[in-house]
Amino acid sequence: MLKVNNLIVNYGHVKAVKNISFELNKGEIVSILGSNGAGKTSTLFGMMSIVKSSSNIEFKGKDISKYSSVQKVKEGLVLCPENRRVFPELSVEENLKMGSFIRGNYSKVIKDVYDLFPILKDRKRQAAGSLSGGEQQMLAVGRAMMGEPEVLMLDEPSLGLAPVITDDIFNVLKELKNSGVSILLVEQNALKSLRISDRAYILETGNIVAQGIAKDLLNDEKVKKAYLGI
Ligand code: ATP
Repeated sequence: MLKVNNLIVNYGHVKAVKNISFELNKGEIVSILGSNGAGKTSTLFGMMSIVKSSSNIEFKGKDISKYSSVQKVKEGLVLCPENRRVFPELSVEENLKMGSFIRGNYSKVIKDVYDLFPILKDRKRQAAGSLSGGEQQMLAVGRAMMGEPEVLMLDEPSLGLAPVITDDIFNVLKELKNSGVSILLVEQNALKSLRISDRAYILETGNIVAQGIAKDLLNDEKVKKAYLGI
């Protein structure tokens, strides 16, 4: 469904992503794993035209390489950014509304988001900045879902969260997959990501150094030791 070929992201002389290729099939959860500075965020930013990049991107058979960020969202690619990036002074519901800005389908979709995260409904009038880290992450995922993605991309949703909250978030990702959303999950938490993923790519200093079926990677002692710190 989504094929990213020869993605290159440079910041001046810093080569953050060095000609990588990967794909996501419909209904899959695919992880891109790697440590700090591996190039994970740059990969997502390059894909979504947030930073300058060179690539060939095919989505549902269409060449979208030259599309702007907004056009890519309209096609069904939505990014849930690192560090939640909620609007702290806006209420929970106002934050969700921002996520439907491009689609304008607010009243219909918000019901689904509240079903997914009932806590957001309970707190809909509360300022987003007053939520806990886990609740803010739920809000960030909910806001991305308001854009009605076919492909949901998440940048380190487990960052700074207690293990039990990470489990809640990852369980929601599994639910979303079951409802037909394809997921590209960028994470440092290799173990938890691989457990919910179909396939994974391992990124190191801008290169893909290993890839495969998630279960196989989880059982590969060499890969686990060399790249995953498991
Ligand atoms: P993290 O987990 O810390 O977010 P990451 O895997 O997402 O790491 P990137 O943020 O994509 O990695 O960074 C990849 C490389 O590009 C790093 O060496 C980083 O220092 C560099 N980099 C990222 N953004 C910029 C920028 N705006 N200008 C210059 N270099 C940058």
